[in-house]
Amino acid sequence: MRIVRDVASVRAAVAGAGRVGLVPTMGAFHEGHLSLVRAARAACDLVVVWLFVNPTQFNEAADLAAYPRDEERDAALAAACGADILFAPTVEEVYPAGYATTVTVAGIADVLEGAQRPGHFAGVATVVAKMFNMVGPDVAFFGAKDAQQVAVVRRMVADLDLPVEIEVLPTVREPDGLAMSSRNVRLGPDDRRRAAALHRGLSTARDAVAAGLGDPVAVAAVVERALAGEGLTAEYIAVVDPGSFAPVTSVDRPALVALAVRVGPVRLIDNMVVTP
Ligand code: AMP
Repeated sequence: MRIVRDVASVRAAVAGAGRVGLVPTMGAFHEGHLSLVRAARAACDLVVVWLFVNPTQFNEAADLAAYPRDEERDAALAAACGADILFAPTVEEVYPAGYATTVTVAGIADVLEGAQRPGHFAGVATVVAKMFNMVGPDVAFFGAKDAQQVAVVRRMVADLDLPVEIEVLPTVREPDGLAMSSRNVRLGPDDRRRAAALHRGLSTARDAVAAGLGDPVAVAAVVERALAGEGLTAEYIAVVDPGSFAPVTSVDRPALVALAVRVGPVRLIDNMVVTP
């Protein structure tokens, strides 16, 4: 596996390579990231892993400063999963002096995570558009854990006619159900235990919907109770259409339950599809 820092080198490396798969990441790899790299390896001739802690998608300076970074470890893990290229550009390579362009996706990027984290999805959409143009992948791999991110990227790809397929892989979880996240390392032991309530609440809601519960307010209340059992309060619990992220008035077809919860110093997000 080669580590590449600049756009010219990554373009030279992918030229004539056959089917190119791109795995966008901010590093601090866990099994969630590695599942994407393995899927790319299985489906593509050349696998490029993008590693860049994108400053423009952080809306809290403290979150950016505390974001875990360990390129050496990430490089070893990516190589072990079969990546061909680790593209780890500098901030100056991505945003050179005079940089002035932003991609904004209206509507879907303004609700839930977008409402709680102003500017977050503009940062995401812009850097994803840039990496698609830098690398020129045939297919890009994303995790279902960041469901709204996937919806924003899909909207942008359709609207801007970007010639890339979007593949979405299931959320990889710890044995107690907590969705793997680079931020989990910042949970102390008690918060780490309490954090399992997110998945417990979502699973209980899924079972309740399968058993006939169709009122989205009641579905959200099921999740709320599971969180309250651990003394946690959600920033939001939303029952939405999985494609548009519009709120549903009745769960009469598959819906997405999405939530964000602060657990100690860490803001966690998770989601689950619920099916009547
Ligand atoms: P990040 O480095 O957090 O920006 O994540 C990079 C990619 O990995 C995104 O497409 C995420 O959705 C995906 N990802 C993060 N956590 C998980 C997980 N637990 N399971 C599956 N994919 C994940």
